[in-house]
Amino acid sequence: MPVINRFSSFRWRYLSRSPAGIPESPDAADPFASQREQMVKKQLIKRGIRDPRVLEAMGKVPRHLFVPPDLRDRAYRDCPLPIGYGQTISQPYIVAFMTEAAHLTPESVVLEIGTGSGYQAAVLAELARQVYSLERLPPLAAQAQQTLAALGYGNVEVRQGDGYQGWPEHAPYDAILVTAAPPTVPTVLLEQLAVGGTLVVPVGETGAQGSQSLLILCKTAQGWVQKGAFPVQFVPMV
Ligand code: SAH
Repeated sequence: MPVINRFSSFRWRYLSRSPAGIPESPDAADPFASQREQMVKKQLIKRGIRDPRVLEAMGKVPRHLFVPPDLRDRAYRDCPLPIGYGQTISQPYIVAFMTEAAHLTPESVVLEIGTGSGYQAAVLAELARQVYSLERLPPLAAQAQQTLAALGYGNVEVRQGDGYQGWPEHAPYDAILVTAAPPTVPTVLLEQLAVGGTLVVPVGETGAQGSQSLLILCKTAQGWVQKGAFPVQFVPMV
């Protein structure tokens, strides 16, 4: 995403100037750079995330700016974090895993269900041409939109709405990522997927008794094929 790269590096350079106009080290501009690098090495590469574009995006998006200010110090830990309204930002590994599973190209058009903090949308925006993201809760949708705009992500559109309806105006999508768990695969989302496209969706019941599987489904001309299923724990899709 050359345009975005230009904006964000401009931003970092701008922020890194001291009042006297003397440029400081890159770490002064982004105090979390080394934590982010460690996160990529220890949580992602070590566990088998291989796609260099995904690793680059995960190493670039400032995750600490997507969590509440009092949790910034914990942003790069190996766990989900609360973002308010009973919702969470997913663990970095899950974000990377779902992104890798989506097999995005610089031409891809992607739909995300469950914007939350906007972090997963930012990672997708680094890799795809255009990202559409739906969030049920108005305050989270507004906050995510603000964060993404401030960071210069011009190729993400966030809308408050119900993910069970999908976003038909921009269909078909090359990939759809669902970041909240519905009880079964929503057929509307399969319908809004392009042939050859990938749907990544955690399916099942939430809570101590429930179990969920992250399904990777590829749409074919005949229907769809399941490429994988992994045990996960997501907040419910409401
Ligand atoms: N992708 C997010 C994590 C989201 S947590 C991130 O990177 O931060 C799941 C989100 O899905 C929550 O914000 C929740 O409000 C939202 N959600 C739940 N049910 C939904 C629905 N039916 N439609 C849209 N969003 C929904």
